[in-house]
Amino acid sequence: LPPLPAKSPIGRIDENTYSQYAGCTKFQQLPISKNLKDGLRQSGYKNMTNIQRASLPHSLCGRDILGAAKTGSGKTLAFIIPVLEKLYKARWGLEDGVGSIIMSPTRELADQLFGVLKSVGKHHGFSAGLLIGGHEYDEEKDHVNRMNILICTPGRLLKHMDTTPNFDCSQLQVLVLDEADRILDAGFKKEVNAIISQLPKHKQTLLFSATQTKSVKDLARLSLKDPEYIAVDEES
Ligand code: ADP
Ligand code: MG
Repeated sequence: LPPLPAKSPIGRIDENTYSQYAGCTKFQQLPISKNLKDGLRQSGYKNMTNIQRASLPHSLCGRDILGAAKTGSGKTLAFIIPVLEKLYKARWGLEDGVGSIIMSPTRELADQLFGVLKSVGKHHGFSAGLLIGGHEYDEEKDHVNRMNILICTPGRLLKHMDTTPNFDCSQLQVLVLDEADRILDAGFKKEVNAIISQLPKHKQTLLFSATQTKSVKDLARLSLKDPEYIAVDEES
């Protein structure tokens, strides 16, 4: 494996925490909760891929991330892990409402993410919901505030933000934009900008993409604070 990318000198995050994570190659070496280690092991995940190795030390200590790595490189766990760990450390509970939003370009991808979240997060007590077109909006509406983690397509999330009474994201801890290049290619730029403008400013944002297009960089400028840029080209 290639060495980890050089650490940026100005860290606004606890450097001691960062150094505990840097250099780990196996999930079981990460200083993460036992729940999460068990979920990863039981899901069959042992060695980290390059994008996971390079990004988790940063994301787990709270930094914003702009991560680029090609399809199949393991980007999903690079955000599912920090989402679960952050909410776990915050002792997030059912009454705390929406703690994380994970945005995906398509229903099919959202569905896959949901499967990974259920598997890796099976020892956590979090509630999770899929907000995607094709589901009954009225049914979703009644449950949406009781969900700790929302996996959604931009159009459907915006519909809830605009029309669901009492829909509340004010406590949001982590926003994930997965496959950001595809979200933008699918013409969701306006929706994503509208969503971001309605979310609280103080949160962690993880933006992952297979390619670094101009529109991805524009979105990163709009949505990320002092991010760590991580691009991984190698086979994982
Ligand atoms: P990407 O989002 O970058 O296209 P995925 O997160 O969908 O990639 O992962 C691609 C495949 O690799 C999936 O089948 C996933 O289960 C597998 N995978 C991801 N991380 C690991 C890992 N650390 N060890 C083994 N398999 C992994
Ligand atoms: Mg992916």
